[in-house]
This record gives sequence, C-alpha cells and structure tokens, in this order.
Amino acid sequence: MSKKKCPVCETRTVSAEFKPFCSKRCADVDLSRWLKGSYAIPGRPSDQADEVPGAPDPSDA
Ligand SMILES: [Zn+2]
Repeated sequence: MSKKKCPVCETRTVSAEFKPFCSKRCADVDLSRWLKGSYAIPGRPSDQADEVPGAPDPSDA
C-alpha cells in the first residue's frame, strides 16, 4: 500500500506534486489551520456577518 490519503480531506490520495496533500487547496487549508493555531486565537466561532452594510459603489456615479 503506497497510496496515502490526504490528511485534510481524507478522501483523495496524496499527489506527488503537493504531498503530503492531494492538492494546493488542501495544502492551503492545512497551512491556515496551522497558522491560526499558532496565533493562539481563543475559541471563537466564525459567525461574523460577511455582508458589507451599505457600501457605496463608486462605479455607479
Ligand atoms: Zn485533500
């Protein structure tokens, strides 16, 4: 058994190009997890509104 599974998505096999992940995307996910962990952010749910209230559109002038 030489095929390893990606530790991030755990469904796809590891790509030689992006190992130990299956893709750039999963590598980025792992990196961001690692960075967040090292930033010591307290367990705060990411339920911040992702809407921009009343942003003016300069292209509409
Ligand atoms: Zn993956």
